[in-house]
Amino acid sequence: MLASPTLLAVVAHPDDELSTGGALAKYAAAGARCYVVCATRGDGPDAQIKNEAATRETLGQVRLQELACSCATLGIEAPRCLHYQDGAVVQVPLETAARDVARLIRELQPQIVITHDPGGGYGHPDHIAVSAFTTRAFELAADARVDLSLPPHHPAKLYYFALPRSFREQVPALRDRRAEIGGKVLGFVGVPDEQITTEVDIRDWLERKLAALACHRSQFDFDPATGQPKTFTTSVPEPQRLKLFGYERFVLARAPAGYVLNGIPETHQLAGL
Ligand SMILES: [Zn+2]
Repeated sequence: MLASPTLLAVVAHPDDELSTGGALAKYAAAGARCYVVCATRGDGPDAQIKNEAATRETLGQVRLQELACSCATLGIEAPRCLHYQDGAVVQVPLETAARDVARLIRELQPQIVITHDPGGGYGHPDHIAVSAFTTRAFELAADARVDLSLPPHHPAKLYYFALPRSFREQVPALRDRRAEIGGKVLGFVGVPDEQITTEVDIRDWLERKLAALACHRSQFDFDPATGQPKTFTTSVPEPQRLKLFGYERFVLARAPAGYVLNGIPETHQLAGL
């Protein structure tokens, strides 16, 4: 393994960073530099405000503070925001967004880039757009013909978040979850289990991850007994929670030439570097 690896997660909204929050916390504790770039402030017309933590007027600012709290709790670098419009990321031309992210890749020089799966988890158009332009940015950053005022940088691997599709059967709260986005009602889709290549053990980091999730006060109802946010993760009782959510799963989408998955699933995103 590299002495000091760098990981970069590119996400659509504040709280999406928790899709890989356990792995980022785990790698940061082992000496890696871990960055989150968030496309929006999570303050669009479909955003729900769950309590008095924010008003419509303060929402963008509050959500950025909540994201900063989450990253600090995970023990990773302070987040960056692209300030695209929440709910309208797809309106940013793909090439423009890809260049924005490619510039960040050249600046931060990650070996590992992580983003939403191409289906967006539950079909959220912002997630799908972020997945597409981050995938494009992965190529642009390495392309010496592309002038971004910084020398090219070729990350080693690109990963997509992967909540297994089989969780529909195992987690009723996930199966029943609905979100109304742009006038459409969306539900959990997930990634077909057989496409998942990588499973990182974060059992020792799950408490930390839930603490980071609790930073996103304006997004959740809280259980007064435990103080924990009510989410599909906390809907599952222990010890089943550790079994299901004590691992973060990914699809390896790009890897160095000749890199062979050494038994599926891979158990370490930095494997082979
Ligand atoms: Zn999101």
